[in-house]
Amino acid sequence: MGRTQLVWFRDDLRLRDNAALTAAAARGPVVGLHVDETVGRPIGAAARWWRGRSVASISNKLPLIRAAGDPREVVPRIARELDAEVHWNRRYHLTDVDAAVKDATGATSHPGFLLAEPWAIATGSGSPFQVFTPFSKAVFAALESAPPRPEPVPELQPASVDAAALSDPVADSEPFWAAATLAAHCHPGEDAALERFNEFLGRLEDGAEYNNNDLGAPATSGLSPHLRFGELSPGYVWAETAALAERHPETAAHAWAFLRQLVWRDFAWHRLYHLPDMATRNVRGQFDHFDWAWTPHAVPGSDERAFAHTGMDPAAEHLEDLAAWQRGETGVPLVDAGMRELWATGTMHNRARMVAGSWLTKNLGIHWRHGEEWFWDTLVDADEASNPFNWQWVAGSGDDAAPYFRVFNPLLQQEKFDPRARYVARWVPEALTPLYREPMVDVKESRRRALDAYEEMRSFK
Ligand SMILES: Cc1cc2nc3c(=O)[nH]c(=O)nc-3n(C[C@H](O)[C@H](O)[C@H](O)COP(=O)(O)OP(=O)(O)OC[C@H]3O[C@@H](n4cnc5c(N)ncnc54)[C@H](O)[C@@H]3O)c2cc1C
Repeated sequence: MGRTQLVWFRDDLRLRDNAALTAAAARGPVVGLHVDETVGRPIGAAARWWRGRSVASISNKLPLIRAAGDPREVVPRIARELDAEVHWNRRYHLTDVDAAVKDATGATSHPGFLLAEPWAIATGSGSPFQVFTPFSKAVFAALESAPPRPEPVPELQPASVDAAALSDPVADSEPFWAAATLAAHCHPGEDAALERFNEFLGRLEDGAEYNNNDLGAPATSGLSPHLRFGELSPGYVWAETAALAERHPETAAHAWAFLRQLVWRDFAWHRLYHLPDMATRNVRGQFDHFDWAWTPHAVPGSDERAFAHTGMDPAAEHLEDLAAWQRGETGVPLVDAGMRELWATGTMHNRARMVAGSWLTKNLGIHWRHGEEWFWDTLVDADEASNPFNWQWVAGSGDDAAPYFRVFNPLLQQEKFDPRARYVARWVPEALTPLYREPMVDVKESRRRALDAYEEMRSFK
């Protein structure tokens, strides 16, 4: 019976393949800790909803202290009270906070949130990759020479600690739309994550394709919120999928296409590690000269106020347009379908995210940060890296981004990726009737304006 082991859970809300937990369990009785942190970017409403349920499900599996505050104060204090050794799985933002806690507690940190550590993947000259294809080749090569070896669920000896007595009262506020809709679509927690993953693998095994472009018949894993909160480790997903590809060569192309997509998640996080202010700053500085419509602090969040903000600043006409986009009332079927799917389910098909983002930033000329903030608050999978990274990709201001001049035509995108209008019919049935509104701006004219604005920006070096 060794010393008490305190495992600080963050975005790793699982028992399986959890290196920190496995190391702790080997050393002594274990108690978990979750901190509702008052440092860093406040978590969005939908993600908070998910996280609350995921933390609750972990607390059914081991004693868990739930605290709130600044971890630099909370974690050392609880470790002292319990005379415990501290462990956690690394994260790639708030690294200064973790460094301070480590100094104070002598904690041990472990990998597991990503497929590869950001410092382990670099170009020949030792700098970080800014382009996805060579990055992904380097990750694939690293994983081929050292394939992930997921740890099973460790045998736990729960510490005899009164976790409830050590916990702060934690209020998990509910987004106002959650009760009616999110609960019907979202199933947080490690058990649900495993079920979903196994179901996806079963589909591949039965010959189904992986296709992240088909809006009508979703053929992707749906794992993003589970990975976001670490209910599954990417290493486990990699190992199981690669094993499936080995067993069933006929499905290998689909299995590897899915894993390549998973590498985008690592890319976003590696970029954030090197560019910690990616959520607020254009990666390509030239875009600082772009004439985005932008009203700082105009969008307070996805609670009722968000829909009332049009009256906040009469000078900012674009706030009307922003509100129409948020509500899914742009008059562009595919954009409206995506935005309504987001509101109803807390998620949105990747293709629709790209098209809705392009409409906002290019056709409406609204700053990507307004879109990023809306997604931050309403997506259950919103995270510090993937959300700003992908917004900057869509807006053209990011690394390896879609070139600005490639403005998606949402009508052609619909023809191509939702040819039978199944997706649109599901979310915006009126789009298929003559009663549907006209697009808020003309598709071709707004594209022209976007390209003119881009040309103007290009004169700045
Ligand atoms: C504007 C915009 C914002 C986005 N914001 C987020 C976000 O906050 N969080 C998030 O997880 N994804 C985000 N994405 C990426 C992507 O849309 C989702 O990961 C995807 O829709 C999840 O569906 P899935 O789990 O079925 O993915 P699958 O197609 O099954 O892919 C497997 C996994 O790979 C990862 N992945 C796939 N595509 C991407 C990508 N482009 N970038 C990063 N990771 C990826 C996800 O973890 C996903 O679960 C965003 C995309 C856009 C265009």
